[in-house]
Formats: sequence, C-alpha cells, structure tokens
Amino acid sequence: NTAGGVRPRPVVGLLPSYAAGKPPVPVEGLVSYKLSSNENPLPPIPAVQQAIAAQTDFNRYPDPLSSRLRAALAGFLDVPAEDIVTGAGSLGALNQLLATFAGQNDDGKPDEVIYAWRSFEAYPISVGLAGAESVRIPLTGDGRHDLDAMAEAVTARTRMILLCTPNNPTGPILTAEETERFIKQVPADVVVVIDEAYQEFVRDERAVDGIEMYRKYPNVVVLRTFSKAHGLAGLRVGYSVSQPDLTQHLRVAATPFAVSQIAESAAVTSLEHFGEVVERVQSIVDERDRVTTGLRDLGWFVPAAQGNFVWLNLGADSAEFAALAGERALSVRAFANEGVRVSIGEAEANTRFLELCAIYTKPPR
Ligand code: PMP
Repeated sequence: NTAGGVRPRPVVGLLPSYAAGKPPVPVEGLVSYKLSSNENPLPPIPAVQQAIAAQTDFNRYPDPLSSRLRAALAGFLDVPAEDIVTGAGSLGALNQLLATFAGQNDDGKPDEVIYAWRSFEAYPISVGLAGAESVRIPLTGDGRHDLDAMAEAVTARTRMILLCTPNNPTGPILTAEETERFIKQVPADVVVVIDEAYQEFVRDERAVDGIEMYRKYPNVVVLRTFSKAHGLAGLRVGYSVSQPDLTQHLRVAATPFAVSQIAESAAVTSLEHFGEVVERVQSIVDERDRVTTGLRDLGWFVPAAQGNFVWLNLGADSAEFAALAGERALSVRAFANEGVRVSIGEAEANTRFLELCAIYTKPPR
C-alpha cells in the first residue's frame, strides 16, 4: 500500500538487505563457535585494549581526516598520507568510492560496475544503492576471477571494476602478473578497485600487492581494513589508497567523522604493535592450512584458501550441510545452492568442523 505512504527509490525495492553472518544457536553440552563472518577469533591485543580504555573525550567529534591514523599508515605502507582516505570499515571506504565514481550518468542511464561473482555480498547492494548497474562475471570452476571475461565486459559505460583478492567467499588470490596485465587492458578512465580485506593472510608469493599497482597506475585504488587481521571488526575502520588525482575527488564523498576516536586510536596502536598482530595472523594461517589439508586428505575439493576461510562447493547440499554444522553448535555461511563458506576459528571449532566433514557423505569434488 503505497497510496500516500513513503516511496523508496525503485532500486531499494529490488535489493536484498545485507544478510550478516548469524551467531550459532546454542546446543546443550557444546561450546558454540561463530564461523560465519570471517572474523578474527582472537580479541584485540592487550595494547589496543588499553588504548581503547584510555579514551574519554567523547563529547568531541573525532578528527574528520583521521590524521593520526593516516600518518601511521603512511609510515607503515611507505606512501604519502595524502593518498589515504579512511572510512567506516573498508565497506565504508568502498561506498565512498562508488559515491564518487559510479552512479547514474548525466544521460539518466546507470554507469556500469564490473565484478566477479560470486564475491563479497555487499558489492551488489552498494553498487545498486549508488545508482549504478552491476555487471557480474562468473568465477571459474576453481573460484578464481575470469579476468579475460572481465576485460571483455568493459563498455563505454563502465566506470569501475572491483577485484577481490583473496576472493570472498572462494579464497583464491589474483597474481601480480595477471592483475597487471588486466589493468593495462582497462581504459585509464575506469577505476580499478583492488579489495584486499584479507591481504595479511596471503602466503602465495605470486599474489598481487595492491600497493605496488597503486604506485604505478593512477586509476587503481586499494582497499584495506582493520577488521580481519587486526581483529577490530567491531570498531569499523578501513581505508583506501590512491594517487592524488583520484583521491582529491574521493575526499568530497568521504563521510565526515566516519572513524571514531576509539577506532582511530585502536588502529594506530595495532599498527605500533604489528609484530603481535603478525603472530596471531600466523596462528590463523596455520589453522587454515591444517583445515585445508584435512579436507583434501578426506578427498574434498577446496579452492586455494588464502584468506581466513574455506569454501565448500556443496551446491544443492549447502543448506543441509549448514544445518548439520548448526547441530554441532557451529554457525557457517551457506549460499543457497552454491556453497558454504566456513571461517577459520578457534582450534577446537576447526577440529569440530573437520569431524563433521569426515562423516559427511557428499563431499564436493
Ligand atoms: N571486502 C571484503 C572482500 C570483505 O569480505 C569484507 C568483510 N566481510 C569487507 C570488504 C568489509 O569489511 P569491513 O567493512 O569490516 O572492513
């Protein structure tokens, strides 16, 4: 009944709302584990917790430019602070990019944004809300971007391309070689976003380093986050890195005060103690490799897992598998009729997941 009522933009009626990973449903006698949001199972390091507790000046707005964090990141990444724009998570940073570069064109038609599919679930929602049109290019059978098909999909309407490495939810990286070849094929007026939310977990030496691409190509933007390796998902802090010609436009669309004082201090402190972060990341990588090897030893097909999650290509059995995990107090992320993404969690959670896989009779091949 819209008569006299409010009327959303048509696109809002067409889009799903973002379905976040659910917490596990408690099961009598079992500790529950959430493996559905690619979170870090470990709490923030002690120095970060102290930095958070030391904050008090909440009657004041935060620094809208996140100057302390950008200075810390500039040192950490060896890039000019002017090239960094912070956001409420890397998703906030992505929305700022879309608001700046892709939406409805002057002729009233939508711009096109190309990305691989399946990839991060927020892409179609963010692209649609920006007013642009999604062009989804299917992944290859082993969960990789089909970069040739993505390059062929570029039209005069294409304004942005999203590359996700490692790809959420399937896990493989993009190599430096294939990424650079791709960027060279793309017109220089198309923004190429390299979403590296899981960059710290990558161990494949052939992987692209987005920062190297940004240094060479003025249309490249790198997205990174404190949500995964740094374990600060609850504080919402991420950023983009791009050359000045691109960044100057981005500043207009940047949400004012998107990063709170707490988030900024936590992120700065986490960078100051990066050695501790790296140790924790390594423990997650070790667990990921244990899980991947365990699955393959059971005869399961698992795409190259370079993030903090594994992808099970279970197709029509996805919901059934997720329900079985739920009975064991593990929440995992099922994508109906496609597959199940399982985050790497506490060692006991990972072991319980492997035990389920050992008795499950329909492994993905
Ligand atoms: N990009 C990718 C590929 C992701 O998987 C996620 C989180 N699931 C994000 C971006 C957004 O993370 P955040 O906003 O917490 O930085």
